[in-house]
Amino acid sequence: MRIRYHHPIPNFYKFDNPINHLNSISDDFFDCLNEYILNLGFAGVSYSKLSKDFKKEWDIDWDNILILKYVMSEDILNMEASREKTILEDEEFQEFGKKTFEVADFLRKNNFKADLIHPLDDTISLRAIAMQSNDCVITRNNMCMFKEALNIGFFMIKTSIENLPFKSENDMLWVEDFCSTCGVCNERCPENAFGEDGNFQRKLCTAHREGCSVCVLICPFFKRGYEKVKRRYEIKQKRS
Ligand code: SF4
Ligand code: SF4
Repeated sequence: MRIRYHHPIPNFYKFDNPINHLNSISDDFFDCLNEYILNLGFAGVSYSKLSKDFKKEWDIDWDNILILKYVMSEDILNMEASREKTILEDEEFQEFGKKTFEVADFLRKNNFKADLIHPLDDTISLRAIAMQSNDCVITRNNMCMFKEALNIGFFMIKTSIENLPFKSENDMLWVEDFCSTCGVCNERCPENAFGEDGNFQRKLCTAHREGCSVCVLICPFFKRGYEKVKRRYEIKQKRS
């Protein structure tokens, strides 16, 4: 069973989906859409094209996904674990959820089909969809990391747009090797939420119940950023 830590997001749509929707986006409108999304405060967008096998596995019939990414507030992450912290995290989540409805409405007004994939929908895994983007990786401390930051939250929109810039290869998979030799999160977790084999155990982690962020704050990807860690990793690989 998945842990529910956010309150449900109400329906904020102001427009219906178009009756005759478009399937293809022009370069100009694609730029305009990106600008609109960034102006709302999102950090970036990734795109997932769900494969036939994936759709079969999850019993869905849609496949074009926009992933709207936001950077979770460092001020909140740096707070001591507390009820107040989890409320602030949820408020931030709600704020970006509402903005995601605005993006969907923007698409609908411009004749594209667009529906938010509700993050509390138990019938689909947003992380599994995210991994289909080839633009992120699951770190040892169970974060879904994109290049923009370790502390990324995201919302998703399924859309009729077929010609999004989908990536076919994931160049972040080296992170798995890096995590296998780092293990700082495992060593410093106050809840011993990593099993004897060093693998993350969701049920023991108090991140969402009590707002623990220890393993995020001490992670090299948080402290130095993706590109710097990657450069150091590559230098080390060349020397060995
Ligand atoms: S602390 Fe180390 S092992 Fe844990 S997620 Fe970060 S890089 Fe990976
Ligand atoms: S969030 Fe806290 S409890 Fe959860 S794995 Fe990280 S350090 Fe451990």
